[in-house]
Amino acid sequence: MSDQAFYSGLQSKLETLRSDGLFKPERVIASRQGSEVVSQDGRTLINMCANNYLGLSGDEQTSRAAAAALEKYGYGLSSVRFICGTQTVHKELEAKLSEFLGTEDTILYAAAFDANGGVFEPLFDENDAIISDALNHASIIDGVRLCKAARYRYANNDMADLEKQLIAATDAGKRHKIIVTDGVFSMDGTIAQLDSIVELAEKYGALTMIDESHASGFMGKTGRGTHEHCGVIGKIDIITGTLGKALGGAMGGFTSGRREVIETLRQKSRPYLFSNTLAPMIAGASLAVLDRISKSTELRDRLMENTAYFRQEIERIGFTIKPGTHPVVPVMLFDAPVAQKFAARMFELGVLLSGFFYPVVPMGQARVRVQLSAAHTREQLDTVLKAFEQAGKELGILKNQ
Ligand SMILES: *Cc1c(COP(=O)(O)O)cnc(C)c1O
Repeated sequence: MSDQAFYSGLQSKLETLRSDGLFKPERVIASRQGSEVVSQDGRTLINMCANNYLGLSGDEQTSRAAAAALEKYGYGLSSVRFICGTQTVHKELEAKLSEFLGTEDTILYAAAFDANGGVFEPLFDENDAIISDALNHASIIDGVRLCKAARYRYANNDMADLEKQLIAATDAGKRHKIIVTDGVFSMDGTIAQLDSIVELAEKYGALTMIDESHASGFMGKTGRGTHEHCGVIGKIDIITGTLGKALGGAMGGFTSGRREVIETLRQKSRPYLFSNTLAPMIAGASLAVLDRISKSTELRDRLMENTAYFRQEIERIGFTIKPGTHPVVPVMLFDAPVAQKFAARMFELGVLLSGFFYPVVPMGQARVRVQLSAAHTREQLDTVLKAFEQAGKELGILKNQ
């Protein structure tokens, strides 16, 4: 407590964040997560910014499955997996995830952040090359930093640039090459071109890895993910993902792939070896979620219907969106202050949305990001669309105005 300069330095940095409009306040919710939430001040808001794609966070069946696992396996293990922290429910969930993803084996983590943080260092060293999409998630970037492999970066979803980097890594005589990409990029809802990536990987003898955090559970006809959507099931070497978005929404992550890869991670991956086991109630609830969505595609079908409806109607009203099919719908407002004003007005109108502007997205690309859920009713979506129209008119930003 004797270094006052340390604390005053932090204070002034926080002040700068506030004055630059980059400070991230937390909105406090007083209810369960869902398509509607109650805010701390008692107002009911329609929620358009959760990663709750299948509507399973806050869902009764999910809670009951968690409660059953809590009852059977208890609250926690007070152990890492390899000492005394592995229960039957963890092994069942790993097997179920492997079956769901079409892989041989799966290892659980406390978060996808840990899965990505712990995947590279045990598998690759200075003789190898990691070829990473420029827009990959922060956890991939951090994971790559922890590893001694050479780093190559290609422009977002740019297959010509990816090929250039593959050639560069090959020319540098790298032993193993791995192409790493988010399956879906969460700022734009862009889907990685996995069919082309797999082709390039085959051409240059590279491995492939995808992070399926914004895809597992709903992308592809039966919700297996981007690899199903792109027709490359069984052709991806390593899949990471989260249990904290579509698959129940609590927390937890996984890495899935060939048996020898997963076994190596169990022996060497630091976030797995040195961090507590996933709470059994989360494992139990995740298992129930996977059972439910393996039996019926009803939820992902409803999500995709809601997405198609919202994308069509928001354009009809006169907004510009990033084209696509993913339930992440970036509604482009371009100007940062406009995006801020717009999100604030939508909040007054009872819609919870998030605005994004530089440096989170490129300069001049400010937007509000809408995320659809299977839990949204048509009525809720119509209410949201009306609010969009009203706020758009007030701010004079509709195309046909
Ligand atoms: C959300 C997200 C993560 C982190 O997931 P957690 O389980 O919350 O740690 C990792 N990668 C991507 C692409 C994500 O969107």
